[in-house]
Amino acid sequence: MANHLFDAIRAAAPSEAAFIETAEGRSWTYGEMIAFSGRLAGALRQLGVLPGERMAVQVEKSPEALMLYLACLRVGAVYLPLNTAYTLAELDYFLGDATPRLVVVDPTQGESVAGMAKACGGTVATMDAAGGGSLLALAAGLEADFVDAERGPDDLAAILYTSGTTGRSKGAMLTHDNLLSNALALRDHWRFTGADRLIHALPIFHTHGLFVASNVTLLSGASMFFLPRFDAGEALRLMERATVLMGVPTFYVRLLQHPGLTREATAHMRLFVSGSAPLLAETHRSFSDRTGHAILERYGMTETNMNTSNPYDGDRVAGTVGFPLPGVLLRVADPQTGKSLPDGETGMIEVKGPNVFKGYWRMPEKTAAEFRMDGFFITGDLGKIDERGYVHIVGRGKDLVISGGYNIYPKEVEMEIDAMPGVVESAVIGVPHPDFGEGVTAVVVRAAGAALDEPAVLAALQNRLARYKQPKRVLFVEDLPRNTMGKVQKNVLRETYADIYKG
Ligand code: ATP
Ligand code: MG
Repeated sequence: MANHLFDAIRAAAPSEAAFIETAEGRSWTYGEMIAFSGRLAGALRQLGVLPGERMAVQVEKSPEALMLYLACLRVGAVYLPLNTAYTLAELDYFLGDATPRLVVVDPTQGESVAGMAKACGGTVATMDAAGGGSLLALAAGLEADFVDAERGPDDLAAILYTSGTTGRSKGAMLTHDNLLSNALALRDHWRFTGADRLIHALPIFHTHGLFVASNVTLLSGASMFFLPRFDAGEALRLMERATVLMGVPTFYVRLLQHPGLTREATAHMRLFVSGSAPLLAETHRSFSDRTGHAILERYGMTETNMNTSNPYDGDRVAGTVGFPLPGVLLRVADPQTGKSLPDGETGMIEVKGPNVFKGYWRMPEKTAAEFRMDGFFITGDLGKIDERGYVHIVGRGKDLVISGGYNIYPKEVEMEIDAMPGVVESAVIGVPHPDFGEGVTAVVVRAAGAALDEPAVLAALQNRLARYKQPKRVLFVEDLPRNTMGKVQKNVLRETYADIYKG
């Protein structure tokens, strides 16, 4: 046995080639990455981290932080990254749930977290260059050659908490093979080679930035421009030398607002990928008009890595997430019975394959409830497969509105509202209603200066939607609530407007 995921990364690494470059001009070659992660792995072992133990990490994005993930693989521990936006109270909850052996935090947090780490039976180390608890200082004094711990395909590589869009985040247990098989499938599908240079502006505590962006690059021996966060101007400057951008839809919206986005400015780029949230068809079309590039949209989740992708060659169809990746089985089933539905019908998306996680950390009942008898995972996403085989995401099962006994898919109503002049975006939710069970409710963001009001929206929808789909109320807000991945938090909206049909 060997170290399943890291061996593959090592085998793909061209020692002299660039691995990471930062905006401040710091850079590492692959050879330096292997040496640095070896020293860090040595430090982790000295701190008592054993194979199979969990290591929680809440640090700002940096090349060192990415190499800490690789070091964790090499000691055979389970990598457990935490969103840098979590407050100390939230961190306390996650550490209590995860009970890690070691917690790595930024220097400013060291003292506050020490007590929490101890309470769950672990210790703390910090990501600074010097000082008592410093991981980097410890690593600097060690040899670079490290004998990697043996890890097989079914051993856990990571526990990743879901984004918490629909409720409390759950820890998804992912194996070495879950990560490796999916990254290889994406590498081949998206034609990654050592010549690629990725603009990496995503956070590295989430599946998108950590596994899709980083693992795919590593397994191609390609290089990354590492940005702490997305900035359209900076990204456009990098496009002179880069080849690929992986982003969430907001990146594309921001690029479209930048006057520098042109055909010439993007001529060196070969691929723009979008995921983590729905990309509006309008964004897809505008981007293609301005640059000549068709954004490639794909669909995945923390629990399953990537499930589908639009084709590399062939039509990248706006409003769809493409076809299941090789090795991934995907079906649309009746949410109640689990019976497969014919193409064209909307139902629950279920998937099975080497990409699918081993279960939710410390939630055996929840895990059991989310898998069918034949091993398919119930994603919680509603969708359909069209006549050409493209998968369409219709929304989340939890967001389905049932009003007066009818099923209403919020996206259908949102699309109508979003198409109205003066509307920036909208979110349609179901709110308790004395007569209908749930009342269809639209929350709308108006464009600056737009005079649109509730009666105007309702009037415009009258001939466009069946009566039962029409909102009972239209409310205007400055912004929709979003989490750090840019996803609209409908649970927050449902709470805010819980009482509007009462009394
Ligand atoms: P939680 O499970 O904690 O409520 P979450 O589902 O948002 O949070 P993630 O695992 O980060 O956590 O996100 C996966 C979800 O993101 C998918 O289940 C799907 O709803 C959505 N998603 C991802 N890619 C796309 C896409 N291209 N189009 C539409 N939705 C997408
Ligand atoms: Mg989810």
